[in-house]
Amino acid sequence: MGPPGAGKGTQAGRIAAERGLAHIATGDMLRAAVRDGTPLGLEAKAVMARGDLVSDDLIIAMFRERLGADDTSAGVLLDGFPRTEAQAGALDDMLLGLDRSIAAVVVFDIDEETVVRRLSGRRMCRANDHVYHVESNPPAVEGVCDIDGSELYQRDDDQPDVIRTRFRKQWIEAAAPVIEYYRGRGLVSNLDAAQSREQVSAELDELLDGLGARA
Ligand code: ADP
Ligand code: AMP
Repeated sequence: MGPPGAGKGTQAGRIAAERGLAHIATGDMLRAAVRDGTPLGLEAKAVMARGDLVSDDLIIAMFRERLGADDTSAGVLLDGFPRTEAQAGALDDMLLGLDRSIAAVVVFDIDEETVVRRLSGRRMCRANDHVYHVESNPPAVEGVCDIDGSELYQRDDDQPDVIRTRFRKQWIEAAAPVIEYYRGRGLVSNLDAAQSREQVSAELDELLDGLGARA
């Protein structure tokens, strides 16, 4: 968990690939739905563009279907879900039914000005949401994804005013009770996400290795 721009997707993509976990990013799934023009995408598009949360009902149904896919059996890394108390409750019910549990909740701590700076320079690829930054992590060829060759673009919601709305509504307001809920269950580890990619990676790897050792 963490505010937009904290580096969740950057780390989750790397870790999922390295550890053979399924990376479930609800934001990526929604952008694919918008791209494909599905009913879900049509409903979510304007909500996302103004920085609000998509309705719990839609998100929970989309997530439930994804969690049922075959590639989730070895473990799942959740990125951007759950974001509300209703979503956290629905996740608990789903996990109970599957006889599975949450191993850890990592909270990425970072201040608003740093995320505004990061997201103003973020570029994503059209095909697979691979993440770049114009200054700190540019692609080899400007405007082209190193990994799949698709076009890089700037998200509609990565404009300073929308970034600030997302930070306030989605992080400060909606996420706080979810974090407290998990903290009460002893699941939360906080991480200083304003550090360099290398430092964040090292801390996260140590944390995950520790979980592996306990499993
Ligand atoms: P989130 O998934 O939390 O919204 P991203 O992983 O997309 O965040 O990262 C947001 C932006 O910040 C991207 O442009 C990414 O390249 C950049 N970024 C990610 N981690 C770091 C870091 N530790 N230091 C500086 N920039 C970073
Ligand atoms: P992200 O890619 O995680 O920054 O998400 C992009 C946008 O998708 C968010 O600003 C929300 O509008 C929407 N979204 C993603 N995940 C969720 C979720 N779990 N609940 C509600 N809305 C979501």
